[in-house]
Amino acid sequence: MEFYEGNIFRPPSEANSLILQVTIGCSHNRCTFCYMYKDKKYRERSWEEIEKIVAQAAAYYRPEVVKRIFLADGDALAMQHDKLLALLNLLRETFTYLERVAVYAGPRSILEKSNQQLRELKEAGLGIAYLGLESGHPQILQDIKKGVTLPEMIEAGQKVRQAGIKLSLMVIGGLGGKDLSLEHAKASAQAVNEIHPDYLAVLTLRFYPGTPLTKQVEAGKFQPLATMDFIQELRWFVEDLELKDCIFRTNHASNYLILAGTLNRDKDKLLSEIDRVLTEKDYGSLRPEYLRGL
Ligand code: SF4
Repeated sequence: MEFYEGNIFRPPSEANSLILQVTIGCSHNRCTFCYMYKDKKYRERSWEEIEKIVAQAAAYYRPEVVKRIFLADGDALAMQHDKLLALLNLLRETFTYLERVAVYAGPRSILEKSNQQLRELKEAGLGIAYLGLESGHPQILQDIKKGVTLPEMIEAGQKVRQAGIKLSLMVIGGLGGKDLSLEHAKASAQAVNEIHPDYLAVLTLRFYPGTPLTKQVEAGKFQPLATMDFIQELRWFVEDLELKDCIFRTNHASNYLILAGTLNRDKDKLLSEIDRVLTEKDYGSLRPEYLRGL
């Protein structure tokens, strides 16, 4: 596509979606662990650009193959409401087989939309929002400069669900380092329980060159977890989850241990697998380091 700028990211579950880059970068772009959009200054594309992108995609793909669309980049929900609504309507008119439109949604962008606006987006086809909770621990959220407090984060997640938009929540294993591993796991499970997402994913913290968090590691101010520490933290996290019909995945490329199930139905099975790996110190069933790319 002619209109892609820079690197493009999308959740694993959007692998078969048409990606339309209607915004560039992330409106927040300050999280200390994140490298994804550091080379981009956030902006919305103009309506003229958006129409060109949609027309280009429509010319390239047969309508029946476009059932899912992911709106990039890192926080497309930040787009001005009327424009986003018009875009969703344009997508439905253009791609007549369209079943779902997805976005990454920053918590601040969710909070800045009214309940009515979120419902309008849902009605216009916004089917799912991916929200990075990252951690349910207030101090960690502050340390990583997520830009919202824990109550605001919980409110943002609940708002999405109340509007009828499916919510996929992401938590990052290891984000508290060695010092706050247990606290991170327990507080994150508690926050997830309060938000009660439809989908829950755990990612594993990675350190990218030049990020503020990597500089903290280099300065000895943040102690990263060792491989089995991540699995232990995952155990502490999963054991506290109290959810109903929540699809749980750890299939992100960053993870060591790949798990899948529906919570709480499959909780005992998931915990058994984690315990087996911990007890046997079964490094062989973990994803090797060289495959933990993004
Ligand atoms: S909100 Fe998401 S994309 Fe933006 S800086 Fe934070 S982690 Fe990165």
